[in-house]
Amino acid sequence: MKRGEPAIIKLSQRLQAVADLTSPWRRIADIGSDHAYLPIYLMAANKIDYAVAGEVIPGPFEIAQAHIKQAGYQQQIKARLADGLAAIQSADEIQCVVLAGMGGRLITEILNREPNIYQYLQGLVLEPNQDVPFVRQWVADHGWRITAERIVFDEGHCYQMMLVQPEPVQRPYSPVELLMGPLLLSATPRDPVFTKYWTFKLKQREQLIVQLNQAQQLPVAKLQQLKQEIALIKEGLAC
Ligand code: SAM
Repeated sequence: MKRGEPAIIKLSQRLQAVADLTSPWRRIADIGSDHAYLPIYLMAANKIDYAVAGEVIPGPFEIAQAHIKQAGYQQQIKARLADGLAAIQSADEIQCVVLAGMGGRLITEILNREPNIYQYLQGLVLEPNQDVPFVRQWVADHGWRITAERIVFDEGHCYQMMLVQPEPVQRPYSPVELLMGPLLLSATPRDPVFTKYWTFKLKQREQLIVQLNQAQQLPVAKLQQLKQEIALIKEGLAC
């Protein structure tokens, strides 16, 4: 580090995996940037030249602004109080948008409100903390393709993140690909975190079936759903 340059902040494993997926783009927008750690890290590590840190709630926006100022990056990182992709202006020439740490349905709602993004974006980095299969389906339905995927354990939670690019999928994702991730499934060797996570999820669902079978009134629909998920997880772990 040269004198006067801000120290590179240490990201959580989750946010580091998200940051790694933004390469090679040098102009990014982090939407839902309550602390602006991601753009500050990328700038300090000389991985980007310019960023927008968009945040919809005033309190977190002010925190992001303060962090950017502290790091001395007001010229290179623009904090904007805005709803979703409205934070981005055409002059920003953003190449890659990050939507991390939000529910999958919120992520897709934000994207659906700005259909023109297809025209200028080269990459989307998505890290939904819920409804990951729903997001994968959205990606395929909207002319994007998953081109990289990661799975990490961080502070007792498992997170899945993906890079998607504007290229149509060659064939629809299968149910097992939607659930477990097409590239995580086909990776050789398999990521040990993937195997550990889905083995845990399989056992969890099997135990739940035992418990539900003891109920006075059988929750038939729930049992059916669990059995389908178990079959998919077994298929994914075996292939
Ligand atoms: N992206 C960061 C991360 O991964 O660590 C922060 C995640 S934080 C849980 C989600 C942030 O997204 C919150 O600060 C929330 O206010 C913001 N957010 C939610 N909806 C938003 C929207 N429509 N536009 C911009 N920010 C939004």
